[in-house]
Amino acid sequence: MNVVARRARVRVTGTVQGVGFRPYVYRLAGELSLGGYVLNDAHGVLLEVEGVSAAVDEFLARLGPDAPPLAVLERVVAEELEPGGQRTFTIRESPRGEIPDAPVAPDTATCPDCLRELFDPVDRRFRYPFINCTNCGPRFTIVRGVPYDRPSTTMAGFTMCAACRAEYEDPSDRRFHAQPNACPVCGPSLPLLDAAVTALRHGAIVAVKGIGGYHLACRADDERAVSSLRARKHREDKPFALMAPSMAVAESLVVLDDRGRELISSPARPILLAPRRPGAPVAGSVAPGAPELGVMLPYSPLHHLLLADVGETLVMTSANVSDEPIAYRDDEALERLKDIADLFLVHDRPIETRTDDSVVRAARRPMVLRRSRGYVPASVPLPGGTPLPLLACGAELKNTFCLARGTRAWVSHHIGDLQNYETLRSFTEGIEHFARLFAVEPEVVAHDLHPEYLSTKYASDLDGIELVGVQHHHAHLAACLAEHGEAGPALGAIFDGTGYGVDGTVWGGELLVGTLRDFTRVGHLLPVRLPGGDRAVREPWRMACSWLVASGIEPPAAWRQIAELARSGLSSPRTTSMGRLFDAVSALAGIRTEVNYEGQAAIELEAACDPSERGSYPIELTGAPLVIDPRETIRAVAADVRAGRTPGVIARRFHRTIARATVEACVRLADTHDIGLVVLSGGVFQSRLLLDSVWSGLAGAGLRVLVPERLPVNDGGISYGQAAIAAATL
Ligand code: ZN
Ligand code: ZN
Ligand code: FE
Repeated sequence: MNVVARRARVRVTGTVQGVGFRPYVYRLAGELSLGGYVLNDAHGVLLEVEGVSAAVDEFLARLGPDAPPLAVLERVVAEELEPGGQRTFTIRESPRGEIPDAPVAPDTATCPDCLRELFDPVDRRFRYPFINCTNCGPRFTIVRGVPYDRPSTTMAGFTMCAACRAEYEDPSDRRFHAQPNACPVCGPSLPLLDAAVTALRHGAIVAVKGIGGYHLACRADDERAVSSLRARKHREDKPFALMAPSMAVAESLVVLDDRGRELISSPARPILLAPRRPGAPVAGSVAPGAPELGVMLPYSPLHHLLLADVGETLVMTSANVSDEPIAYRDDEALERLKDIADLFLVHDRPIETRTDDSVVRAARRPMVLRRSRGYVPASVPLPGGTPLPLLACGAELKNTFCLARGTRAWVSHHIGDLQNYETLRSFTEGIEHFARLFAVEPEVVAHDLHPEYLSTKYASDLDGIELVGVQHHHAHLAACLAEHGEAGPALGAIFDGTGYGVDGTVWGGELLVGTLRDFTRVGHLLPVRLPGGDRAVREPWRMACSWLVASGIEPPAAWRQIAELARSGLSSPRTTSMGRLFDAVSALAGIRTEVNYEGQAAIELEAACDPSERGSYPIELTGAPLVIDPRETIRAVAADVRAGRTPGVIARRFHRTIARATVEACVRLADTHDIGLVVLSGGVFQSRLLLDSVWSGLAGAGLRVLVPERLPVNDGGISYGQAAIAAATL
């Protein structure tokens, strides 16, 4: 028998805080009769174990494989120490003055253990809508400050009963140090669940207070309910998200592959965008004209009860009116939603930070299109690190901000479009909240070059801070590079709706060669006029008119005034926007001449594509910097329209044309600049069709392709790109 005593010190890094790792280590050490300690510090978890040599070996062998479900171990480094005769094992306090690396975890879907208890008639938490444990439950949305313990959460007002307190204090219990621990005796309550279930079954619209805010819910198969929700919400066309009662029901709505199943049931429980199944049992107004449906599964015990009782798929859309941010405070929700909801399903656990549902898609790789509840505030590595703590303010639309120190970046939840007071307040309060939680006192602030963005103005109003202005498309490129741990140089094809160029014009169809430090614009889409500025974004027919003028085609007589603007350039800035070219073709093909949300014309153009069509249009690549000149394309589109070709054929030919031109341009520029790495980013690449065909084409030409995965391909990723550039420049 091996009785030689050994002592080992183990450093564990990764996502190991706030995920039940210390009690897990405590239990494992106890099982193997080892002495020692475990603690959280600024680098992760530090522990020492001492005992019989074979037991220490077994401990080290099982430490990773047996770790709790939410733990992600990046590195485990063990070293031998002299044994000190320690027999007992303790959970120690964090060292004074040390800031834990990850003081707050993301909100996490109800775990299988809690779910079993929730539906177990003899469990003391049977049908309790706030059941949670160390492995699941609310985190980020309830935290008010650090250190992360009960008094600094919105659970502070609920005093644990003796039974809950005993679980909380027992290191061998699943609820050891579970800060939101509660039960029907001592915790939050939810009156009216039965009334809400009945109302929903009968076609009512119910405001449901969830984890990060209120949802508006109604039966997804009830056309009358869904269309009245649309009317009351003033949301004309934007698709509604669905919550399906089970995976089986989700699969009757959308086509899922293994990756899709994994994403939709992951602990983050995002909304998954997936191809709509023909004959999916949902009302027409759920997602008019959209080839995909956004589906999620229940993620809180309240949702599990609600969906189980109603037994039907529900529309679950963020509770707001038009462009306002999601409602999350009770008094404000009651006021703002009183004309929309027939009934309110409200509980008394306050929400501290408003957080929308995240949106993902399972393409060739998983893609996060909106990174919010379930993902935030997990840190993202910042390769190379930053010498000074910094703040990056992000873009204007789909804003996020980002704080960074050392080799970590914290990208905020989706803030929204910084175009109204409510959203600006979320932005400024959010920055203060993150700065406190993660102990970042920014000495450097990165911002967009656009002088009129509220985020830029916020940055320039700060005193005594070094400012770093970052070009929008460079930020897209850098975000993707940094996320993949690369520094460049890379060739970036960055296609989006709008971004302020270094020449003061509106960029958006950019070919850049760049690193995390700087970039050169090596190519772009042919510039045309944006007739009437921002109005051209809402009215794609204006862009159609502008492209006709640029291509030497006389626009219809009704468009004469706008054609004049396009010709004279009066209040019509120049733009190389790829998004606006898609808008123009959508309008020319008769699909969308006016939009209710940004990107709608392009989304419907993609949806219209006739998959059997194999043709494409001529397009030119000329000069240096390389100009993608689609005037021939526009003339061919106009000819197809005159010839009465279907929108589906035109849409498909156009997509194939842009994909081919992008691949050709990249191959040519990669060769000229001797670069083997291409980054595809910008909101236009939210098009599954375009991304897939460009990706295949580039890979076929032997180029390595990188696409944003963990951060949004749209402007939600800009703040992280700004942070990466500021860090590399300092
Ligand atoms: Zn649990
Ligand atoms: Zn209790
Ligand atoms: Fe952008």
